[in-house]
Amino acid sequence: MKMKGTATVVKHTGSHYLLTELPGWNLFPAVLRGKVRLKGSTATNPVAVGDLVDYDLDEAAEGDSMAAITSIHPRRNYVIRKSTNLSRQNHIIAANLDQAVIITSLMFPEIKLPFLDRILVTCEVYNVPAIIVLNKVDMYRDAAKEEVEAFKSIYESAGYRVIETSTKTGEGISELRELCKDKVTLFSGESGVGKSSMIKAIDPSLEPRTGEISDVHLQGKHTTTFYEMYRFSVSDGGSGYIVDTPGIRGFGLVDLKKEEIALYFPEMLRASEDCRFSPCTHTHEPGCAVKLAVEEGTITPERYSSYLGMLEDEGKYR
Ligand code: GDP
Ligand code: ZN
Repeated sequence: MKMKGTATVVKHTGSHYLLTELPGWNLFPAVLRGKVRLKGSTATNPVAVGDLVDYDLDEAAEGDSMAAITSIHPRRNYVIRKSTNLSRQNHIIAANLDQAVIITSLMFPEIKLPFLDRILVTCEVYNVPAIIVLNKVDMYRDAAKEEVEAFKSIYESAGYRVIETSTKTGEGISELRELCKDKVTLFSGESGVGKSSMIKAIDPSLEPRTGEISDVHLQGKHTTTFYEMYRFSVSDGGSGYIVDTPGIRGFGLVDLKKEEIALYFPEMLRASEDCRFSPCTHTHEPGCAVKLAVEEGTITPERYSSYLGMLEDEGKYR
């Protein structure tokens, strides 16, 4: 007798996938049956972490039997890593994300706001709500307190939630854990900001992977994904799910047309409703509501300058 079911992909090892029916965590292996692939997808990996899949299980052969993935549900969203070499292949990092946590620190490594803004634009393009975590606040308490406030006001005024954390003192960790409860969250951050420490602070039993992932790892037929979903437990018995992105600076590369870029700066999108011209590049046009908002201070010069930078290289970056 055949048993059918629907489950979520949490990991891809060389020969098989590991699935579970969320919110549970009873992992079982599955293989791909035939040419299962979402229509139109050209990614190197047909099935990604976070994918919801249908599977068959042959009960007669239970014991040493393996489930077979028969189809993939349409993705609510996904984030991809584009290959930096000439093959131009895409690798899907994860699908069906509830949110992304972007971990930053003001120093060590020093923050580069245009880089953060590009990650935020990428999240908007992929339709993944972003939360900004400002980590290592134990280091800035006295000397750099004003910088912390300035950072927060830039991103809060743009409409993002900013959480101050320290994996050393524990500040903000329970707030972050609470925000990630019952959700699938992508964790991203430049190397050194404390992403691994953060994942361990959320749940000490987790062992986040560290180190660099090269394009070579993500190619070929027998690619093992380095992206994996972890479950963490909350003391009240709840749980949440983290997809770590080891070894990548941000994720994805977006190729946006000049006139599209402002659509992904939420505060600019809001203001642009009142621009006299449409489309408006918000640079030289008379009656531009975005430029007015910058003059009046409701759009910060930092974000506007990131926008101009992206406009210059037409949204491309790596
Ligand atoms: P990752 O590369 O983003 O995974 O960063 P790690 O978790 O490996 O941390 C990088 C360095 O930052 C390590 O030396 C950590 O001890 C340190 N670190 C992480 N979180 C904090 C924090 O909240 N405060 C301070 N002062 N140092 C931290
Ligand atoms: Zn305008």
